[in-house]
Amino acid sequence: MTRKKTGNNKYLKELNQKVLLDLVRIHGAVSKAELAEWTGLTPTAVGVISGSLLEMGYLHETGTGESKGGRRPVLLELRSESFYSIGVDIDVRTITAVLMDIKGSTVREELVEFPEGADFETAGGIIVDMVGQLTKQAAISPERLLGVGISIPGMVDSETRSVVLAPNLGWRDADLQTWLSRHFTVPVYVENEAMASAICENWIGSCQGINDFVCINIKSGIGAGIFTGGKLYRGAGGSAGEVGHIVVDENGPRCGCGNYGCLETMASTAYVVEKARKLVRQGIVSSLNTYEDTDKIGMEEIIREARKGDEASRGILNEAARYIGIAISNIVNTLNPSRIVIGREFVQYGDLVMEQVKNVVSGKALKAPASRVEILASDIGEKASMLGAAIIPLKVLFGR
Ligand SMILES: [Zn+2]
Repeated sequence: MTRKKTGNNKYLKELNQKVLLDLVRIHGAVSKAELAEWTGLTPTAVGVISGSLLEMGYLHETGTGESKGGRRPVLLELRSESFYSIGVDIDVRTITAVLMDIKGSTVREELVEFPEGADFETAGGIIVDMVGQLTKQAAISPERLLGVGISIPGMVDSETRSVVLAPNLGWRDADLQTWLSRHFTVPVYVENEAMASAICENWIGSCQGINDFVCINIKSGIGAGIFTGGKLYRGAGGSAGEVGHIVVDENGPRCGCGNYGCLETMASTAYVVEKARKLVRQGIVSSLNTYEDTDKIGMEEIIREARKGDEASRGILNEAARYIGIAISNIVNTLNPSRIVIGREFVQYGDLVMEQVKNVVSGKALKAPASRVEILASDIGEKASMLGAAIIPLKVLFGR
């Protein structure tokens, strides 16, 4: 009995610590009186818990607040240089990593070329080196690292956290988490890249305090991270959010999944580029024709010409946006989110096509959910999944 009771006390203490830490994170500098008021804990209990958080180095005292009669209260704040987290994003040709402090600010970043088609052990080796470099450059001792989060462009099993399938990397059943856990003393978390982006938007991006939202990543592939009721929704097996395979045109091209006309085949940046090159070869009237090598026309060129007013380039982007709008209409009808954030490469041309996306949604989605949803381009863009991966160990610390 005694042992059980001690166990409960320890659990309660840790829980209260997380609750207090999270309140300090959300509100910035706070007084103990405010913490007692918000949590319903006694001032004595708040004193004891905040005392231990100060002692462990998570918090520090900063200045004094407004007096409500009597002495001006000492304010508590998270100590930036106390603990850190590392987030890694694995993409087809690059691995990027960020060292983040406890407040969610970037301390350092690293980018390493990743040999296309390399296996997960190769990626693991690179990650071990990158984590070593980042902590060394910032002179951080290993015990100050909370964990390492990894973002993967693929499906991650909801229980084993093994990468079930990452088609663009050519990985199948790749247990990177177990492999990396052998090389680190801190916890390792593997997450799907769209879900990592959604975590980022919810923690430091445009979906803070928003419970029901969808974060759609558009680049060479298309995927989404879904939050419902303030929590990440993974589905039964971990593959929720594969919106790139919503069929938007039955007569469309064949998709890597075997189906025809999936959103990914009509609106991914890879498809947009392919379509532009094809039209140029067919002799379309466009300033894209002035490029000597058609194979060198990429997203950057299409966006540049569209900005200069080239109708054909605008048309190509708007057509992709129409399909994005169709898929979003289905998402809006199914999930009734209050916000949809479109990120990754989309942010580079979002301003050119957002009106088109919104027009399609207001025309095709049901009136009630369509009137409640706000659709916007991510402010964070390319780095969201890397930052989201770094936020995962922070979420654990703050009990989120
Ligand atoms: Zn598909």
